[in-house]
Amino acid sequence: MSQLSIDSFFEQARGGKLVGLKCPMGHVTVPPRHSCRVCQSQDLQLVVLSGKGRIVFFTDVYVKSKEFPLDTPYTLALVALEEGGHLMGILRGAASKHGARVLVKFEDAPGDSGKWPRTFFDYA
Ligand SMILES: [Zn+2]
Repeated sequence: MSQLSIDSFFEQARGGKLVGLKCPMGHVTVPPRHSCRVCQSQDLQLVVLSGKGRIVFFTDVYVKSKEFPLDTPYTLALVALEEGGHLMGILRGAASKHGARVLVKFEDAPGDSGKWPRTFFDYA
């Protein structure tokens, strides 16, 4: 069983390396969890992911919160990664479209002071 802490996940992500966990059935779990998101197997191996995916769902956010420094409106998207698994993040760029190809990037937002970077998607 391979361990991947959430801190290690975000440290590697900040460095441009997206890692996930893969079970013997081939399901990819990302961000890391104790067991496979599909079959609950705890026999998980580290895999490096491409960061490429497609938009499954998106919504525009108009309400600003003090915990989140981005100006509104911004677009929140759920992306299905090429190798399996999903990530939620902030979509940058042109008008949103279901199925559009995107690439994930982990960066601090302007004014951020948290220890983990935020998840962004740029159109690929
Ligand atoms: Zn599985």
